[in-house]
Amino acid sequence: MTAGILARWADRLPSLGPATPRLSLGEGATPLVAAPRLAAAIAPGVDLHLKFEGQNPTGSFKDRGMVLAVAKAVEAGAHAIVCASTGNTSASAAAYAARAGLQAFVLLPKGAVALGKLAQALQHGARVLAVDGNFDVALRIVQDLAARHPIALVNSVNPHRVEGQTTAAFEIVEAWGEAPDALAIPVGNAGNISAYWLGFQRAVTAGAATRTPRMLGFQAAGSAPIVRGHPIDDPHTVATAIKIGRPASWRTAVAARDESGGAIEAVSDEQILRAWSQLARLEGVFCEPASAAGVAGVAQMHARTPFAPGTRIVCVLTGHGLKDPDRAIACAPTLAEVAADITAVERALLG
Ligand SMILES: *Cc1c(COP(=O)(O)O)cnc(C)c1O
Repeated sequence: MTAGILARWADRLPSLGPATPRLSLGEGATPLVAAPRLAAAIAPGVDLHLKFEGQNPTGSFKDRGMVLAVAKAVEAGAHAIVCASTGNTSASAAAYAARAGLQAFVLLPKGAVALGKLAQALQHGARVLAVDGNFDVALRIVQDLAARHPIALVNSVNPHRVEGQTTAAFEIVEAWGEAPDALAIPVGNAGNISAYWLGFQRAVTAGAATRTPRMLGFQAAGSAPIVRGHPIDDPHTVATAIKIGRPASWRTAVAARDESGGAIEAVSDEQILRAWSQLARLEGVFCEPASAAGVAGVAQMHARTPFAPGTRIVCVLTGHGLKDPDRAIACAPTLAEVAADITAVERALLG
């Protein structure tokens, strides 16, 4: 039984003190799996691996930061937490609030949250409101709310979120005793790319790795403020988890890109959905659409200028596919019906 990231990485989490409760739902220690069939399809010669963060307790990487943010809120005496969310932050906040005995308040952009995520927030007892506006508007409102009331804000503007998320980089370094050549990751509010970069740097400081990877971030083309160089007022993409026009961690994401010799690029919804389907069909890994942006990005970069043979790349798959069942069904052929009869089934399946 894993004890979770606060117990495992106590020595690498500066804000964790003796008075911080060791909250856990068993987050972290997620699979890092080789993806040779996917590599052959999108980037032959690349040593491609997947860090499947959908295996966290609530089905996304958000648990790594949330467990620390909620533990610090408890330590500070808070009775409630609040967040704006494209879905996964709210699912995670609601679960860890329940675990810690706090009330969670959640603001979601109306009509733009995948079904599984909404179900989680509601089932865990969060007070959920659908705001008539996008994520960026909802984030501004919860920041004001937290400033006016004794409620802890647990969006990634909370530094404990980013700190907790550094643990994923520690796990990758631990697996190999070294950092990979590159890390490919979807970019929404840009907290996670910032956290991985901080984590890889701290791994070097701790003597666990000798170098840091190139950071390769990918935004959806209709929601790519960092790539375009200006905020997007009306972002759009099928990848709802990265549908963000004003990333809170914009500056740290750009620093991660530049200091690592990396890149932040845009990928189209079509490229994202193709990569999402290839992950499921070639590797048996079902992530949510936004999570496939890193894979789509590696394919795009390799097609333009091939990576050197043997380049080791980790694609971060940020969330689980069951979060967004509607999208999977919508992209699949309609279910054929058949009589309850062996001959009819043979004819239908085997032609
Ligand atoms: C939150 C989230 C992202 C974006 O992460 P940021 O830290 O906001 O850049 C990507 N994918 C999934 C599944 C998410 O839940």
